[in-house]
Amino acid sequence: MPHLPFASPIAEVYDLAVVGGGINGTGIAADAAGRGLAVFLCEKDDLANHTSSASSKLIHGGLRYLEHHEFRLVREALAEREVLLAKAPHIVKPMRFILPHRPHLRPAWMIRAGLFLYDHLGKRKRLQSSRGLRFADDSPLKAEMTRGFEYSDCWVDDARLVLLNAMAAREHGAHVHTRTRCVSARRSKGLWHIHLERCDGSLLSIRARALVNAAGPWVARFIRDDLQQPSPYGIRLIQGSHIIVPRLHDGEQAYILQNEDRRIVFAIPYLDRFTLIGTTDREYQGNPAQVSITPEETDYLLRVVNAHFRKQLSHADVLHSFAGVRPLCDDESDDPSAITRDYTLSLSGGAGEAPLLSVFGGKLTTYRKLAESALAQLAPYFPDMGVSWTASAALPGGEGLRNPTELIDALCQRHAWLERSLAQRWATSYGSRVWRLLEGVTTQADLGEHLGGGLHAREVDYLCQEEWARSSADILWRRSKLGLYLSPAEQTRLDEYLKRLTPCPAHMT
Ligand SMILES: Cc1cc2nc3c(=O)[nH]c(=O)nc-3n(C[C@H](O)[C@H](O)[C@H](O)COP(=O)(O)OP(=O)(O)OC[C@H]3O[C@@H](n4cnc5c(N)ncnc54)[C@H](O)[C@@H]3O)c2cc1C
Repeated sequence: MPHLPFASPIAEVYDLAVVGGGINGTGIAADAAGRGLAVFLCEKDDLANHTSSASSKLIHGGLRYLEHHEFRLVREALAEREVLLAKAPHIVKPMRFILPHRPHLRPAWMIRAGLFLYDHLGKRKRLQSSRGLRFADDSPLKAEMTRGFEYSDCWVDDARLVLLNAMAAREHGAHVHTRTRCVSARRSKGLWHIHLERCDGSLLSIRARALVNAAGPWVARFIRDDLQQPSPYGIRLIQGSHIIVPRLHDGEQAYILQNEDRRIVFAIPYLDRFTLIGTTDREYQGNPAQVSITPEETDYLLRVVNAHFRKQLSHADVLHSFAGVRPLCDDESDDPSAITRDYTLSLSGGAGEAPLLSVFGGKLTTYRKLAESALAQLAPYFPDMGVSWTASAALPGGEGLRNPTELIDALCQRHAWLERSLAQRWATSYGSRVWRLLEGVTTQADLGEHLGGGLHAREVDYLCQEEWARSSADILWRRSKLGLYLSPAEQTRLDEYLKRLTPCPAHMT
C-alpha cells in the first residue's frame, strides 16, 4: 500500500464511501443519500467516463438472455423499463424493435414463445405488446426478408442517466468528487480509512463506516491492488464496440438483426441524423481505459448490416465509433456472448470490521434494483437508514414532466427567439432543469458566444456549474453528443473557452 502524505490528519467520517462514478456507483450513492446516509463518491475520471457511456443505450429486458435462461434478470429488467420511463421521461423513451425473421437461425415458434414471455414477464402499462409483421415494398430491408416481428423496449441517454443519479445524490447531501482516484483504503477500529488523489496531484483522506467498490472493469483490480485483498469473484472483461453511420432508414423504429453466429446486432436511430450499430463481444485483456474498436469489429458490424439492409455500407460511412468493456462476473462460459449479464454483490468484513461491498457485473437497465439490493445488504450496519424510495421518485429534470413535447412547446412559447430544434435538444437532455439553464435569459444574445453545433457559452457554464463538466470531452461526448456536430476548429475553441473557466487540465479526461 503506498505511503502518502495525506492532507488532513483528522479525516471527515461518512457513512458510505463509494468508489466509481458509473451507473452503479452513482445509483447506489443516490439511493443511500436519499435514505439519510452521509455519502461520499469519488470517480477517478469524469462521471460515466467508461462503460456507462459506451453502451447500446437500451433500457431493455434483453430478449436474447431468454435463450440463456436468465429469467430472473429478464423479469427484473422488463419491469424496470416503465419505472425508468416514469422517473426520467426526458432521457428515456419507448422504442419499437423490428426483428426480421430468418427461419434457418431461429424458427418462428421459438421467437413467438420468446416474445410472449417478454410481453408477460414484467409489468407493462405504457409499452405496447409484440406482434408479427409482413414487410411492405418500401421496407429498408432486402427483398428476401418478407416477415418479422415487432416488440417494445426503451432507449436511454446512458451518460446522462449517470449524471442524473450523481445530481440526485448531491441533492440529498452526498459529496461527489470527480477526477479523484481512490488510491488505497484500510480498515481500522471499525472504519475505513480512505486515501484519495485528485487530478492536480493533491491528496485527501476520508473515513467511512462502509466502502462500496463500484469500480466497474476495475472492480477486481481495486480489491487486489488498492485494498490488498483477494477478490471473491473473477471478472471477465468483454469488449463491445459500436459504429455510427448516416441514418440508415426512415422512422423511429430500431432493428434487431440475427447473425449467422447466433449473436444479434442492433441498428438504432440516433440523434435524428445517424444510426448506431452494435455491438460486438470479444475477450479483452488490456487497460479498460484504452479500449477502442478493432478493424475486425468494424468489418463484422458492417457485414451484419449489409446482410439485412438494401442500403450497403462501407468503411467510408463510419462517422464515429466507440468501445467499452463489460465487467462481467466470470461464470466460466466459453462464449463471451453467453456470460451472464446479471449482477453479483459481494459483502465482506468480519464482526466489528467495517464492511466492503463490491459490485460485479450489472446492466444500466437494472442499476436501480442493484442499488436497492446493495442497500439491503448494508442495512444491518445502518439500522436507522430510511426505506427504499427510488421506484417512484423522479430523477433531476423529470419532476412533473409527462413528456418532453409539452416542455418543448412551453419553451418555444416563453422564448419566441428559441429554435425548436434547440428547445428539443435541451428538453430531452435537461428536462425541467432547462428553466435553470435559462434563468435570466431573455434574448438569443444572453446565450453568449456560439461555440458550434448549437452549443453556447451559457450551456457550457451551466454544465460546469451544475454537472461537474471540466473538459470538452465531458461536454461533447457525455453531457451531450454534440461531438458529432462540432468541427475540430470548434472543439479547439471550446477547449480554449474551458481553459478560462477550469483549473484542471483537459488531458485528465
Ligand atoms: C458495448 C456495451 C453495450 C452495453 N449495452 C447496454 C444496454 O444497452 N443496456 C444496458 O442496460 N446495459 C448495457 N451495457 C452494460 C452497462 O453499460 C454496464 O453494465 C454498466 O455501464 C456498468 O457500470 P459500472 O458503474 O459498473 O461501470 P463503469 O461505468 O465503468 O464505472 C466504473 C467507474 O469506476 C471508476 N473507477 C475505477 N477505479 C477507481 C478508483 N480507484 N477510484 C475512483 N474511481 C474509480 C472508473 O473510472 C469508472 O468510471 C453495455 C455494456 C457494453 C460494454
